[in-house]
Amino acid sequence: MNDLKQARNQVLQQIQQACEAANRDVNEVHLLAVSKTHPSDLIEEMYATGQRMFGENYLQEALDKIENLKSLDIEWHFIGHVQRNKTKHLAEKFAWVHGVDRLIIAERLSSQREASQVPLNICLQVNIDAQDTKDGCQPNEVAELVRTISQLPLLKLRGLMVIPAPNNPQAFIDAKQLFETVKIEHQHPEDWDTLSMGMSGDMLDAIAAGSTMVRVGTALFGARDYSQK
Ligand SMILES: *Cc1c(COP(=O)(O)O)cnc(C)c1O
Repeated sequence: MNDLKQARNQVLQQIQQACEAANRDVNEVHLLAVSKTHPSDLIEEMYATGQRMFGENYLQEALDKIENLKSLDIEWHFIGHVQRNKTKHLAEKFAWVHGVDRLIIAERLSSQREASQVPLNICLQVNIDAQDTKDGCQPNEVAELVRTISQLPLLKLRGLMVIPAPNNPQAFIDAKQLFETVKIEHQHPEDWDTLSMGMSGDMLDAIAAGSTMVRVGTALFGARDYSQK
C-alpha cells in the first residue's frame, strides 16, 4: 500500500471514530482533500486511491491543475479568498466556492455561471470567532445574506464555512448553532446541508460539533513546501 493510500485510510478512520464518538452517521461527513502547493501528479495518485473531492486556494495554480487533470472525474472546490475580479474563472471552472462573504461576490458568481452548467455550490464564509481578518462576514450579517443569496439563480447556497483560530472548539459549536438558526431565511431550505469546518489539526472537534465537510491537507499529503511555488 502506498503512502497516500495509507494516509487517506488513516484520515477516513479518524473521521469514522469521530462520528462514532459523536453518535453521527459517517456518511454525513465528507473529506475534501486540500491539494494546494502539491503538483498534478500527486493529485492523480490521490485520485487513484478513490478520492474525488479536491480543494485549492490559489486561482492560477488551480486553473493549471484543472486543465492538466481534466480527464479525471474530480469535483473541484475553491477554498481560498475570493477576489471580486476573479469570480469569472471560479464561476466557470469550479463545482464549489467556499469563501463567499459578500453579496456582490455571490451576484457576480451567479451572473457569470453558464446557464448550461449545473448550479455552482457555495458556502458563506463567517468570521465566527472575531478574528482580526477581512475574510468572512460577521455572524450578525449571515441571516440577511442567506435571505438574499438563496434567491440568486445558478447558485446553490449549501451552508457555512469557518476557519477558526487553533484550539477553539467553541467556535465550531457557535458555527453549528448559527447554521441551524439561519436556515429559516433560506429560499430553498433543502439545499442548506453543509458545514465546511475542520482541518488536519482540529477535525475531531469540528465533527463533534456537526461538521459535514472537513478540509484536510497536511494529514493527507504531508507538510507543504511553499519555497517550491
Ligand atoms: C490549507 C487549508 C486547509 C488545510 O489545512 P491543513 O492544516 O493542511 O489540513 C483547510 N482549509 C483552508 C481554508 C485552507 O486554506
